[in-house]
Amino acid sequence: MPDFLPIAYFEGNFVPFKDANISIATHALHYGTGAFGGLRGTINPQNPKQVLLFRLDRHCKRLSNSAKYLHYDLPATKIYDVIKDFVSKNAPTNPFYIRPFVYTSDLGVAPRLHNIEKNFFVYGLEMGDYLSPDGISCRISSWYRQEDRSLPLRGKISGAYITSALAKTEAVDAGFDEAILMNSQGKVCEATGMNIFMVRNDKLITPSFDQDILEGITRDSVITIAKNLGLEVEQREIDKTELFIADELFLCGTAAKVTPVKRVENYHLSPERPITTKIKETLTAITENRDPNYQDWITVIDL
Ligand code: PMP
Repeated sequence: MPDFLPIAYFEGNFVPFKDANISIATHALHYGTGAFGGLRGTINPQNPKQVLLFRLDRHCKRLSNSAKYLHYDLPATKIYDVIKDFVSKNAPTNPFYIRPFVYTSDLGVAPRLHNIEKNFFVYGLEMGDYLSPDGISCRISSWYRQEDRSLPLRGKISGAYITSALAKTEAVDAGFDEAILMNSQGKVCEATGMNIFMVRNDKLITPSFDQDILEGITRDSVITIAKNLGLEVEQREIDKTELFIADELFLCGTAAKVTPVKRVENYHLSPERPITTKIKETLTAITENRDPNYQDWITVIDL
C-alpha cells in the first residue's frame, strides 16, 4: 500500500484521504472516461519548509486539455489553485507524486460524454524511484500503442492505459523491467508511461508528435535542456532496429525521471552514457531549484 498524503481534494472540498471514495456505479470506472495528470513534488534540499513543483503550469494545461476531450470545461487556473492548496494542506516531508483526475462521476450506464455529471479530484502519495536509476532492460512489446484516430492520445485518458498495463505485465513476465511499444505503423513510439530518447552519433533523437506519442512534459524539458547544452535534437520516425545499435537510450517521464536503458531484448547497450548522464544531472538540479536558468519551471510553495 503506498504512503498516501493525508488530505485529498474530492467533490469540491479538502477531506481526509480515507473519506474520498467513489461508488462502484461510477461511469468512468466502467468506460475509462477519465483523464489524469501526474506531477512530482520535491522538498527543497536548501529549505525543508518549501515544496518545489516542476512545471506546474504545463501539467495543469495538459489536464485541462484532457478534460476538454471529455467535454468537461475545467480551466487550468482552477486546477493550479487546487493543487497549490492541496500541497499546503498536506505539508509533505518526503518526495511525493500528485495525481489529479477528471472523470465522468455520474452513476448512470451507457458510454457517452454529453448530459453527464463530471468531477475532479486530487490525491497524492510519497514516491521515490519508479524505475532503477542505474538502468533497466526493455522488451519490445507485442502490444502496439493506439492511434490518434481512435482516441485522443494527447490527453492522458484513463481507458487508454489498458495497453500500458498489458505491455508492462508482458515485459515483466518475460523477465524485463519495461516495455517499448511500437505505433500502428511499426515505428518506435514510447514505453508504458514514459517517452523515449536515443543517442546516435552525438545526436539526440526522439519520435515526433505525429508518431502517436503522449506529449510528455519531461520530453519537452529534455529537448530544451539538450538544445541549451549545445546538442543537436532530431524529432522523427525511429525504426525498431535503431534501438539495438543506439549509442545511448533512455526513457523519461514524471515518475521515471531520466532512466537509462541497459538492454533492449538481447542487445546490450554501452555502460558509457555521457549524454544521458549530463541531461539527467541537469534535470535533477532544475527540479531541486539549483539551476538559475530554469527557475521559471519551478513553483515554490512555502509551508
Ligand atoms: N507516455 C505516457 C503514456 C505516460 O503516461 C507518461 C507519463 N505522464 C509519459 C509518456 C511521460 O509524460 P510526462 O513527462 O509528462 O510525465
